[in-house]
Amino acid sequence: MQLIDNYDFAGKKAIVRVDFNVPLHKETGVVTDDTRIRGALPTINKILQDGGAVILMSHMGRPKVNPDPKFSLKQIISKLSENLEGKTILFADDCMKAKQQADNLKMGEVLLLENLRFYEEEEGKPRGVENASEEQIAAAKKRVKESQKEFVKTLASYADVYVNDAFGTAHRAHASTALIADLFDEKSKMFGFLINSELRAMDKVIQSNDTPKTAIMGGAKVSDKIQIISRLLPTIDNLIIGGGMTYTFIKAQGGAIGNSLCETDKLDLALDILAKAKEHNVKVYLPVDAVNADAFAPDANTSVSKTNETPDNMMGLDIADETIAQFSDVIAQSKVILWNGPMGVFEMDKFSKGTSAIAQALAKASQNGAFTLVGGGDSVAAINKNNLANKVSYVSTGGGAMLEYMEGKVLPGIAAIRGK
Ligand code: AMP
Repeated sequence: MQLIDNYDFAGKKAIVRVDFNVPLHKETGVVTDDTRIRGALPTINKILQDGGAVILMSHMGRPKVNPDPKFSLKQIISKLSENLEGKTILFADDCMKAKQQADNLKMGEVLLLENLRFYEEEEGKPRGVENASEEQIAAAKKRVKESQKEFVKTLASYADVYVNDAFGTAHRAHASTALIADLFDEKSKMFGFLINSELRAMDKVIQSNDTPKTAIMGGAKVSDKIQIISRLLPTIDNLIIGGGMTYTFIKAQGGAIGNSLCETDKLDLALDILAKAKEHNVKVYLPVDAVNADAFAPDANTSVSKTNETPDNMMGLDIADETIAQFSDVIAQSKVILWNGPMGVFEMDKFSKGTSAIAQALAKASQNGAFTLVGGGDSVAAINKNNLANKVSYVSTGGGAMLEYMEGKVLPGIAAIRGK
């Protein structure tokens, strides 16, 4: 597999799939968080410094028509330019009509293509078939699959080399994330620095022999996390469970959970996880106490109880002090830690203490030499809220992609370049 580190882009035009699906201010269209743009800079800068030219392609949002100004990548040009020290960004208004601009592109220049998802071929899903018959849908799907071939051919014709650096969409088998790779030979396709870092961080958690290894799983539902937990059980020493999913476990064990969130159809599954953990000698830590609320609201009345003694009219919305102390202790002793999902409803200040404490504990463990990986949209938001992104070993940029990789699934965007 070709590595970007030792590829010389001098005199080459590189088409780079980035994830510029950044949040925009609703009225002004100004980029409100440029983390994803910054994530692509090492790759862009390497190509430019080598003496190559960059053609950037990305999706933004979920447009249903072509074009849709709300989802135009034009809106990110100034932020991208700012991040590239004021560099001029050339723009192609239509990603399928950029051949001439690509041909005219000079080394050292950057061309950004308009939103790939203006075309249904990007995702390979036909549009406007909501009311169609099954037969019509099948025919439309076939048609899009067919025209996808032309779509990727056109994109590939712009460049000499293909770089995929969009980790956030690596779990999608889309035209620009996977199919296009087939049109470049082995030496002319590679991952960018961002994908490489993501893979390295995740592989380190899965493969590291350093112990103890701890997975912290939080968030709303067990059902979302079951696969990743199952995959990790044979490789970890400790499993810390927090957040809403706590209560499915507590109820399954006969505890009183009041009005707390619970997936009643997943009680057996919860018991199954606990049994499997035992088989693998994994120590499971469930919250012992909780901050309860009489309503799911920022100004709710609160009280603290044992997690398995939640009063009838209350719901557990955060872990409480005894749990925080216990979890922090386990974290402090761990050498490899994965954190996915908040410990409580951290969006509301009253219920954010537990999640913040875990973020702090992770930062401290990192300082003491542990490898800490934070992934999943909400735990990343929690780390950022606590200004600790630079204090942990790695913060993943891909929610769904990270979960799927850690679950052991083959990601089409990864397989397209390195095989399985
Ligand atoms: P997930 O996307 O599954 O990681 O879930 C994240 C969401 O879970 C966040 O929006 C939290 O507010 C929510 N959450 C965390 N703890 C609880 C809880 N105890 N009860 C209800 N929701 C929770």
